[in-house]
Amino acid sequence: MILVLNAGSSSLKVEVFTSDLTSVLSGAVTSIGTDGAITIGDETLATKTTDHADALAQMLEALAYAGITLDNLTGAAHRVVHGGTILTQPARVTPQVIAAIKSVIPLAPLHNPNNLAAMLALQAAAPDLPQYASFGTAFHATNPAVATRYAIPQTHHDAGIRRYGFHGLSYAGMVAGFGAALPTRLLALHLGNGASLCAIKDGRSIATSMGYSPLSGLTMGTRSGDIDGAAVLRVSTALGEDEADRMLNKNSGLKALGGDNDMRNLLNRDDPEAAFAVDHFCYWAARHAGSGIVAMAGVDAVAFTGGIGENAAPIRDKIMAHLACFGDVPVHVIAADEEKQIARDALTLMEAV
Ligand code: ADP
Repeated sequence: MILVLNAGSSSLKVEVFTSDLTSVLSGAVTSIGTDGAITIGDETLATKTTDHADALAQMLEALAYAGITLDNLTGAAHRVVHGGTILTQPARVTPQVIAAIKSVIPLAPLHNPNNLAAMLALQAAAPDLPQYASFGTAFHATNPAVATRYAIPQTHHDAGIRRYGFHGLSYAGMVAGFGAALPTRLLALHLGNGASLCAIKDGRSIATSMGYSPLSGLTMGTRSGDIDGAAVLRVSTALGEDEADRMLNKNSGLKALGGDNDMRNLLNRDDPEAAFAVDHFCYWAARHAGSGIVAMAGVDAVAFTGGIGENAAPIRDKIMAHLACFGDVPVHVIAADEEKQIARDALTLMEAV
């Protein structure tokens, strides 16, 4: 069995898969560092954790209580948000890989340190357990330079200011799920609280709407999506960098336009603000879809995933109505399963040994 770990800033989510990728158990520790809770299967208990290592120790104990001990595991696999330009494939965790993940911390200062903390804590608890890592950016490593380069001076590009793209594990999982039925030119939209799209040609990402960070592209739950850099400079000068960051990442998007970042609530309301927020979301998803379709020189199918993409038929319909100019394109709805993709990556690496 494989233990998949997803360490966030204050949470640790785990899911256990068998070697045929069947999920057998999932769990989470929340509010790490303070009074929180631990969930395993359907059971939730209050708990208090000091840090990620403590959260992992408590989770391992809970898993053992549910019948899954370290001896039952053949490997552990971690989600790592950012792989930069060097970690473009899933990898076995080695000292070199740990050093590489550390080296890209400046690109994901809020995320990669948590992923590393979980890795090191597990290494201490189970030194002989092979560990693997899958990177949220890696699927987009196949984008051509013309797509990833910002038209800025080379020195800044070399310092890492370029497009990376995100939601890569969701898109890679989607491609694996299609198998032999994968359309040649697939426009994939991951619409959750964060939202992006990806132009997938012959199973490879060739363009994506997120860039240096997950801020760009589509209108999102609380992120603005695309905004002119000069406007960002002005806001940053007026509010200071931290407040500008909060404004753009936490207080924009649907929340700013409709007062709520929950698409369900917006669809249930009938006031003009909610309608405008929904229209804005769909219009910009379609505008960026046009860009992805041009990158593929056409489109054979559209696939929706993520909380909104999977559940909100009115949103899918509105976006597809904007795309009617591309003809009658088949639409797929696919459940996002990033954990399963991480387990799949680890299994592939284990089989390759
Ligand atoms: P995250 O990006 O945080 O993983 P999710 O993929 O779970 O988020 O997506 C969350 C979004 O999905 C929220 O805006 C939520 O309102 C929306 N959503 C979930 N179910 C529905 C539904 N039945 N109808 C409309 N929106 C939904």
